[in-house]
Amino acid sequence: MSVTNDVVARVRQMDPDQKEFHQAVEEVMETLEPTVDRHPEFVKMKIYERLVEPERTVIFRVPWVDDRNEVQVNRGFRVQFNNAIGPFKGGLRFHPSVNLSIIKFLGFEQILKNSLTTLAMGGGKGGSDFDPKGKSDGEVMRFCQSFMRELFRHIGPETDVPAGDIGVGGREIGYLYGYYKKIRNDHTGVLTGKGIEYGGSLIRPEATGYGTVYFATEMLATRGIDLKGKRVAISGAGNVAQFAIEKVNQMGGTVISVCDSTSTIIDEQGIDPEKCRYIMELKNIRRGRISEYADTYKAACFEGDNVWDVIRKEGIKVDVALPCATQNEIDEGHAQGLVNNGCICVAEGANMPSSPEAIRVFQANNLLYGPGKASNAGGVATSGLEMSQNSSKLSWSRDEVDGKLLNIMKGIHKSCLDAAEAYGKKGDYVTGANIAGFVKVAKTMVAYGV
Ligand code: GLU
Repeated sequence: MSVTNDVVARVRQMDPDQKEFHQAVEEVMETLEPTVDRHPEFVKMKIYERLVEPERTVIFRVPWVDDRNEVQVNRGFRVQFNNAIGPFKGGLRFHPSVNLSIIKFLGFEQILKNSLTTLAMGGGKGGSDFDPKGKSDGEVMRFCQSFMRELFRHIGPETDVPAGDIGVGGREIGYLYGYYKKIRNDHTGVLTGKGIEYGGSLIRPEATGYGTVYFATEMLATRGIDLKGKRVAISGAGNVAQFAIEKVNQMGGTVISVCDSTSTIIDEQGIDPEKCRYIMELKNIRRGRISEYADTYKAACFEGDNVWDVIRKEGIKVDVALPCATQNEIDEGHAQGLVNNGCICVAEGANMPSSPEAIRVFQANNLLYGPGKASNAGGVATSGLEMSQNSSKLSWSRDEVDGKLLNIMKGIHKSCLDAAEAYGKKGDYVTGANIAGFVKVAKTMVAYGV
């Protein structure tokens, strides 16, 4: 058995229920195989074993009072996975599905993603099984305050810097940061994704979606293809999807789909900038269901199916797919459906949206496939830019931040291709992203000793 196989077996044996974490570790370890012979020092220093063990895991009780004056209890998590190259960095997810396995898979991915950005950020992730859906602003605020009442003692601008993820947007970051500031009595860059008025960065809300489209454009360019005039399928309707739609429009593509947890919209006319603004208002301010879009714009609405189900069942032609909803939203059948309907490029805006079987279908059919840790790294990269602005007490213009984001995405794309080629897997973005992200962290861990 090789070292990487041993690590997968060990993780499965130690935490048998953590299936999402196993999935992430297995995918990474498979592709790190070529680094084992090339770097005997990684083996000697047990870097592979050390990489999958978080530095520290905090699990805590989050009690809060709802609008009926009843006490509710949720569970909070912060997994501080690896801080070799910088402070722990990664978002907070508030969603009923959240458990230790999901937070560990996200934190593990974040190590390599953050390394790829070239900025000094380690990997971490946190969150809660709290469901913000259907809650009043007051309930969300009280929950965030209770969550921070414990989290504050584990984080700091040079220690661990959380941000948003699913269920945590500008409103939640405002409540979390406001409470941190109050109990710590200082104004620091301890969270990113802050409002522009109190230390946030321009382009941070846009960054994950924009960055994913920049990455797709780079991948297409390797085959001499332009996004202009292409049909683009996007899943999700939250922050990542919204700004991916905006950027695809700016680059001359046509977005034909959007979805939330209850339904999928297919709009053959294209989700243009005006319709995109409607989605932003619907989801971010009115907090309504995407099915309302179908009534307003006379588009087709499919209840209970995600975008990838609908594409497969209805035979909808697609050139580019940008999954921006959640983990494992694309299974093997969905992937085959995309291939059958002409898809040439998949760039992941979500974290691990494609199952291992789906990835195999994409690769066997020679699609351009960009894994989330590379293609959606623009969000955390811009968090890194927010941290730089906070520590220098400066704020950069929109163009300045967007220009840096574009360059970072081009840089990530190039390092994926370079690493893939250097390790004998030319054109394989999965191997390239994993090896490029890993080698930097591994060399640092070797340098530090045990
Ligand atoms: N949640 C985002 C991600 O998955 C952003 C994290 C951050 O900005 O720290 O990368």
